[in-house]
Amino acid sequence: MFIDHSAIENTLKLAAGTSDAAIDAVLAKAELGSPLDQLDIATLLEIKSDKHMARLMRIAGAIKDRIYGNRIVVFAPLYVSDYCVNNCVYCGYKHSNDFPRRRLSREEIQEEVMLLEKMGHKRLALEVGEDPVNCPIDYVVDAIDAIYSTKNENGTIRRINVNIAATTVEDYKKLKKAGIGTYILFQETYHKPTYERMHPKSVKGNYLYHLTAFDRAMEAGLDDVGAGVLFGLADYKFEVLALMMHNAYLEEKFGVGFHTISVPRIKKAEGMTLDQFSNQIDDLTFKKIVAILRVAVPFTGIIMSTRESAQMRREMIRAGVSQISAGSCTGVGGYKESDRKDTSTKQFEATDQRSPMEVLKELVADGLVPSYCTACYRSGRTGDRFMQLAKAGQIHNVCTPNALMTLQEFILDYGDQALKADSELLIEKELAAIEREDIHKLLTNNLQRIRSGERDLFL
Ligand code: SAM
Repeated sequence: MFIDHSAIENTLKLAAGTSDAAIDAVLAKAELGSPLDQLDIATLLEIKSDKHMARLMRIAGAIKDRIYGNRIVVFAPLYVSDYCVNNCVYCGYKHSNDFPRRRLSREEIQEEVMLLEKMGHKRLALEVGEDPVNCPIDYVVDAIDAIYSTKNENGTIRRINVNIAATTVEDYKKLKKAGIGTYILFQETYHKPTYERMHPKSVKGNYLYHLTAFDRAMEAGLDDVGAGVLFGLADYKFEVLALMMHNAYLEEKFGVGFHTISVPRIKKAEGMTLDQFSNQIDDLTFKKIVAILRVAVPFTGIIMSTRESAQMRREMIRAGVSQISAGSCTGVGGYKESDRKDTSTKQFEATDQRSPMEVLKELVADGLVPSYCTACYRSGRTGDRFMQLAKAGQIHNVCTPNALMTLQEFILDYGDQALKADSELLIEKELAAIEREDIHKLLTNNLQRIRSGERDLFL
């Protein structure tokens, strides 16, 4: 098995109680942008002092700035089915929870999508529970088609990332054919005994099948895969090293590692209490993990959902996070219900309940560029082609103009006066900072075309 538990445990033992000087040495290495090995990462996980923490956050922030600039990608989740055959101890959708289950019809999906488009969303993460009978792959493929074909006056959803349970190469080929962006699957925990304890009497309980899902996805041609750990299930130090081991394994085998890493922390859900989970992490530890991931895999996107507070998200955007969700509902049919102020059974409770408009206002006020860009996968820049672009420092020349174009669209189609005024200033400032003359000219021209009514322009 490629997640070698004893190798991880030995590395953690070696790093335990490491000296201040050793931590400083690894931080210096990170500052220079040198690759970090497992022992380096384990050493950073030992950080406890304020001084080291502050330095780690500064380095993570500088790396984020250098590679991603001040863009932040915005998306929303869409739950279409809460049927589930599994009994994940932590999850509100577990089979043993008794509530009326739903799966949205094509029309209901389109209603949800219209509401999401009304908020300005262009990128969705499609979420379903695992149930081969009530939610087979053909239903998922049809849901994807329903989403892409829903048009409002401002256009359509342009990218759907999909979070469905581990499945076969054949099923992944169907997702590929349906035109998905990233295939997302959280390992939940890499620690095998904990994994088995957390997934009793479940199809999902097969650790190795779950762990090898990305191998099958890559084999099927899905080369943007998004990983994650549900922090709170097992020891966080073990999880971070295992995540890095998994990433290195995929890089070695397929030439590309994770496109994104998500960092969900366990939240209260129906049918469980938080005191069942003894490995929960406090805010400081959580920040340390995110910053370490940023320095360890500088080119991998880091996603922070509305499980976290507005304040945590704001702070960690500065130190590594590159994608956030906004205005999220985590129940099936939740957008329509929250429109009508009903409540549905949720997978877990969200913390940051602000609308996308409020989130965008804060981002722009902080000098950050919200991005609804979906250009890469539509231009074939996926997998190692995206990574080459990122590693060559080209993100600034492509992603920044694309982000500015989507911001220009958003303010014209959805913005109020305050957002418009602040965003226009930000767009001007960012445009002025673009050094390459050809890109400056192209962007100036495209922004003008958008102001004259064109949409969906991208490089
Ligand atoms: N059914 C798919 C699967 O089994 O992989 C999709 C999973 S679900 C829609 C998305 C993720 O939410 C899960 O992978 C899990 O990490 C997370 N999640 C579940 N319960 C949670 C809770 N109580 N708090 C925070 N996140 C939770």
